Amino acid sequence: MEKYLSQLNEAQLEPTIQKDGPMIIIAGAGSGKTRVLTYRIAYLMSEGIDPFNILSLTFTNKAAREMKDRIATIVGTSEAKNLWMGTFHSVFAKILRIEADKLGYPTNFTIYDTQDSDRLIASIIKEMNLDKDIYKYKQVRSRISSYKNSLITVRAYFQNPELIEADTMARRPRLGDIYKEYVERCFKAGAMDFDDLLLKTNELLTRFPEVLMKYQNRFKYILVDEYQDTNHSQYLIVRALSDKFQNICVVGDDAQSIYAFRGANINNILNFQKDYDDVKVFRLEQNYRSTKNIVNAANSIIDKNQTKLDKVVWTANDEGGKIIVNRSLTDGDEGRFVASTIWENKIQHHVPNSDFAVLYRTNAQSRAIEDALRKRDIPYRIYGGLSFYQRKEIKDVLSYLRLVINPADEEALKRVINFPARGIGDTTIDRLVVAANGYKRSIFEVMKNIDKTDVNINSGTKAKLQDFVTMIESYQVLNQTADVFELAEHVTRTSGLIREYKKDGTPEGVTKMENIEELLNGMKDFVEGQKEIADTTGSLAEFLEDVALATDLDADKGDTDHVALMTIHLAKGLEFPYVFIVGLEEDLFPSAMSMGTRSELEEERRLFYVALTRAEKQAYLTYALSRYRWGKLVDSEPSRFIEEIDEQYLEITTPIEERRFNPMLDADIFGDVEPNKIRFKPAKQAVLKKGTTEKEPVKFQITPPKNLKPVSASSSTDNTNLFDGNLAVGNMVKHMRFGMGEVIKIEGAGGDVKAEIKFQHGGTKKLLLKFAKLEVI
Ligand code: ATP
Ligand code: MG
Repeated sequence: MEKYLSQLNEAQLEPTIQKDGPMIIIAGAGSGKTRVLTYRIAYLMSEGIDPFNILSLTFTNKAAREMKDRIATIVGTSEAKNLWMGTFHSVFAKILRIEADKLGYPTNFTIYDTQDSDRLIASIIKEMNLDKDIYKYKQVRSRISSYKNSLITVRAYFQNPELIEADTMARRPRLGDIYKEYVERCFKAGAMDFDDLLLKTNELLTRFPEVLMKYQNRFKYILVDEYQDTNHSQYLIVRALSDKFQNICVVGDDAQSIYAFRGANINNILNFQKDYDDVKVFRLEQNYRSTKNIVNAANSIIDKNQTKLDKVVWTANDEGGKIIVNRSLTDGDEGRFVASTIWENKIQHHVPNSDFAVLYRTNAQSRAIEDALRKRDIPYRIYGGLSFYQRKEIKDVLSYLRLVINPADEEALKRVINFPARGIGDTTIDRLVVAANGYKRSIFEVMKNIDKTDVNINSGTKAKLQDFVTMIESYQVLNQTADVFELAEHVTRTSGLIREYKKDGTPEGVTKMENIEELLNGMKDFVEGQKEIADTTGSLAEFLEDVALATDLDADKGDTDHVALMTIHLAKGLEFPYVFIVGLEEDLFPSAMSMGTRSELEEERRLFYVALTRAEKQAYLTYALSRYRWGKLVDSEPSRFIEEIDEQYLEITTPIEERRFNPMLDADIFGDVEPNKIRFKPAKQAVLKKGTTEKEPVKFQITPPKNLKPVSASSSTDNTNLFDGNLAVGNMVKHMRFGMGEVIKIEGAGGDVKAEIKFQHGGTKKLLLKFAKLEVI
């Protein structure tokens, strides 16, 4: 047997070396599904399957890259390069680019990101004189998106009275008209939005049998990770492509289906066996990721769901620490708990920042966590916010480049036609839009032929429009000889962008300049890197495609060691030694918007299951008794999900009000003091019960001990510890967090002396005396 195959257990090996036919692996979190997919690809290649014939679809491009790297170490880099791997969107964008003309799109079609779509929809709503409070552009976009993902085209929409009725009932009778206009405008601009990448692929495969055949023959082996979260459109693509050879392997976990709100259909996994003949079903039961406590706790949660496939998940890993549940008074306290716990773990276990992840239900929750991490100087990174490529200054540069390859691109044009300012005002732009719609041409074409049109624009402005056209055309000429980096460098200089951002001397302006520089660096890398990648030509179009589809998760700069902050949705498939799940409060998690039906609540529960199963070593669940939401302090109750976990796996820590004051952070109030010599007590009962009207922040009365002596700042980390020599087995001690305990063992020497302490609440802990804040009683 090949050596790498010995890195799989028997249950994993079976599907890995099952070469042909349809198969599904249904298994719980951390059981090696992704690992099996990876090794299976390596195995297929070792069996002589040409990597060109293998298509692997993953949840993120980052996951695809990691799989590719792993495969490269097994079969060699040059072979692995030729694999087709990536997200549905990135793989099918490539195919659409090859086949674009069949659908009437230019080869260099633009990909509109969500921001572009939003802007276009907002302007259509405005042009149609609709009430923007009723026609909220984000809601309209999500409605259009769900039509597209269910393959409901504009024509199908207007043929379906039920849909029209539903939108009319929702006070949006013009939704179909907006949809129609939006689709036409995208098409005229030579642009596809994210959903089009799937919708148009479906159209391509149904309308052109010869194209379908071509790709069926090409992708003889198809593999799909996270199959439980495919939507209808993705499902149909996989179904069509795999129809000829039926060598399809999908892996998934129904318990981790968390995208129903975006159209994912759990039935895709449940019905797989009906879709193909002789489906082999595999199950993996051993979890390799997490401790027993975490695995068992996760099992006890998902047990509460009625809709699920029966699955066993167990682990041979250590018992591990119990899941720590922490209650805070406010979201600020919660942030401080997270930061101080990370800090303590780091110094006690010498682990990097990247071992920690903080997961939350909604993006807004990151702020309190960020504040606390910043105070502690703990580097962090937020994933899933505005991606680098969506920042204004970056989008400005990219918009110029988008116009170079596709001057019809309406959103790019509107963005930069008057930025930096060139005296082309909104009225002019509005007139151009109207004219372009009338002539059924792009705005750029109208501008180019402005003298031949009847657009009411004065001659001075006409000249400015002409200048803009000439500038873009000169970039197009340059693009024929220059590489992406050279072109972008030229564009940023000659368009006036650099000057504009330099002029702005504020710190924000400086950051913007740095970001543009980083973009240019990235382009340089791209130009260099393209020489090594087989499935790329290194064109500007390709660069723009990569950035349009790059999620924040993909743009891993890899250079800094940071704590990861992200929503649970984004954490799917990932793993971290230490995981904090914060904001476990009713109405927040489970979300107030998802408690209407049992199936919604079950999706929230699956989300909690996903969150908890990201943890390898230690999980923390935190909640606050009050929290700022929408600018107001609201009381909250602990999430029902905490109660649903079997108690034996939990450790409820000392309530926050008993240790709220943290001398390591707040010592500057006193000047430098020795941390373990400060006593404090709450000025009043600090627990806010539900229903109390207490809204004042709780104040603490600090009572410094009488013998308080200033100590040097370094004393908390040097070896001349208080306890040198005088802490003995049998001593009673008090710890800031764990409370009272008895020393039962002392080991080590010098700066590494550790004490094993049996705490009255919270079990036995081994603490490094150098850092532990103990007080002998
Ligand atoms: P999820 O459902 O969260 O996506 P998964 O089923 O895809 O999880 P993997 O990510 O493939 O699980 O594996 C979880 C962890 O266990 C990884 O770190 C992986 O390397 C490790 N692992 C899986 N199988 C084995 C094995 N046979 N021996 C050692 N480690 C393993
Ligand atoms: Mg996985």
